[in-house]
Amino acid sequence: MDVLSLYQAGKLPRALLFTGGAAAGEAVRAVKLHLCESESKPCGKCGACVRITRKVHPDVVSVKDEMPDGSYKIKPLRAVVDSGSLRPGGGARVYVFEAVDEMSEQCQNALLKFIEEPPEYNRFIFTAENDSRVLPTIMSRVVKINADGGAPDAPPESAEAVETVKAIMSALFRKSEYGAAAAFSRVKDRQVLSETLRLLLGEMKNALPRSKNKKGVLAAIDAVYEYVKRADANPNVSITAASCAAEIYKELFDVR
Ligand SMILES: [Zn+2]
Repeated sequence: MDVLSLYQAGKLPRALLFTGGAAAGEAVRAVKLHLCESESKPCGKCGACVRITRKVHPDVVSVKDEMPDGSYKIKPLRAVVDSGSLRPGGGARVYVFEAVDEMSEQCQNALLKFIEEPPEYNRFIFTAENDSRVLPTIMSRVVKINADGGAPDAPPESAEAVETVKAIMSALFRKSEYGAAAAFSRVKDRQVLSETLRLLLGEMKNALPRSKNKKGVLAAIDAVYEYVKRADANPNVSITAASCAAEIYKELFDVR
């Protein structure tokens, strides 16, 4: 899935991470999708698109360019983060973090709160050559796109996984722990479990901006992210599914 298809499906995420050789170009395209003033975005011709191309758009912050010697340091990075509550001129402000994998762990940690908390008009675009150097806590908060296309991050999900995720989400909206556990218990196959968890992660990230329970949703996203990794390590499927259901419920509704 590329960024244009996500936009056309009405699912342009608030935080994106591009990997691959074409990451920089795709990042610019994503900025235009956020800020273009034309009906058919990104037009490449309107005032906003032209200013983005010339790197002079007032609502685009190229964070790496703001660093004194072009490399990420904690002090100037904090200064950028602290200015994040200024209102943008238009509808959104886009922060671009080029080569986030070059950031120290301390710098990446400084971004966590920034990317997960309001104001709602902030958007975040990251690029990375090597996303294994990006903290899991950042990875779990962004939608990753391989800008080179080619092999997608994951094969298209099976109808079974799609149905299961619908049932899980609907149970969670009803605050039904039993419903969530029952939906998870349909999963009998490791591949389906893995697909289900990845899809669920996407659904939760999409639900996050509108949620009144951001803390709970974020904790649940982190839990699911851990289970995504666990599911790839050949676990006992029904035990893993059951404990994931319980943990999501616990994190979402803070049941201790
Ligand atoms: Zn435009």
